[in-house]
Amino acid sequence: MHNLVILGSGCAGNTAAIYAARASLTPVVVAGHEPGGQLSITTLVENFPGFPEGIDGPVLVEQIKKQAEHFGAVYLNGTVIEADLSKRPFRLNVDNEWMETRALIVATGASARWLGLESEQKLIGHGVSSCATCDGFFYRGKKIMVVGGGDSAMEEALFLTRFGESVTLVHRRDEFRASRIMLDRARAHPKIEMLTNTVVDEIFDPAQNVVTGVTLRDLVTGKVTRRDVDGFFVAIGHIPNTKPFVGQLDLDPDGYVVSHGGARTSIPGVFHAGDVQDRIYRQAVTASGAGCMAAIEAERFLEHEGH
Ligand code: NAP
Repeated sequence: MHNLVILGSGCAGNTAAIYAARASLTPVVVAGHEPGGQLSITTLVENFPGFPEGIDGPVLVEQIKKQAEHFGAVYLNGTVIEADLSKRPFRLNVDNEWMETRALIVATGASARWLGLESEQKLIGHGVSSCATCDGFFYRGKKIMVVGGGDSAMEEALFLTRFGESVTLVHRRDEFRASRIMLDRARAHPKIEMLTNTVVDEIFDPAQNVVTGVTLRDLVTGKVTRRDVDGFFVAIGHIPNTKPFVGQLDLDPDGYVVSHGGARTSIPGVFHAGDVQDRIYRQAVTASGAGCMAAIEAERFLEHEGH
């Protein structure tokens, strides 16, 4: 029986682990299907406070983990495939082994949705990105492409105009999910060109380990064209990692955990931290802050319960 299990080993989970370990709760962190979370697939992080020269995402998240281990947090490789939160202790099936815990922090994150091209996967962190705030800076004066037709794509395209020489927005339909105001803003921007009814078939060049261009296909005419691109941003939504909690935790229609104030979920003793609940800020530093909040609340909960 554990006092506290933390699901997820990104900034949120690892920071929660530091706080909980320092409170002598001996937290167990279940690392999840993508240990280190989204930082583990980024390159240089220049906006995390305390690193004036920037720090590599994978190094940053590993350092936070080491800090947590230093205070006694225990890390388990594995992923929760099933959970029973109907009574306490909570029960978790981690890769077919059940474990029990008095309190739980869900910091399982949200995974960026990708196009699914092999070339895209090979070039993540080498010109392909899912985060304009994180990586836009590297494309000053360069040719940027953004894929998507929702608010995220408009927001990223507008943000990227600060850096890029040009921003081409590629969307598979000619109707947009984006709100009118965001769409109008993007349409009116002189640096943004919109290509509708268009999909990306291939990204070049995995052999050089850098993005050099793409092949585009017009879905109406079938015409295939080649374009030079330096930075390729995918903004087609995120998928919160909440599958094991469906029907148990209060989730919104897209699957994000609904906050019941602070770090509280709909179930006493279960707390949220990071992108699994946050669809707005999604930053390493906000995830870390949320991890801190969740650990403090878990500690108070356990103390109140007499543990
Ligand atoms: P979204 O609204 O679900 O839009 C996703 C977009 O990606 C859609 O245009 C979709 O095309 C496209 N797409 C999905 N899969 C694709 C694929 N495999 N290939 C090509 N295109 C694909 O997601 P989001 O933009 O991330 O927004 C999520 C939520 O956050 C929304 O509620 C949004 O309003 C909100 N948000 C708000 C703000 C803001 O207000 N500032 C900023 C960001 C996000 P189809 O339309 O053809 O399906």
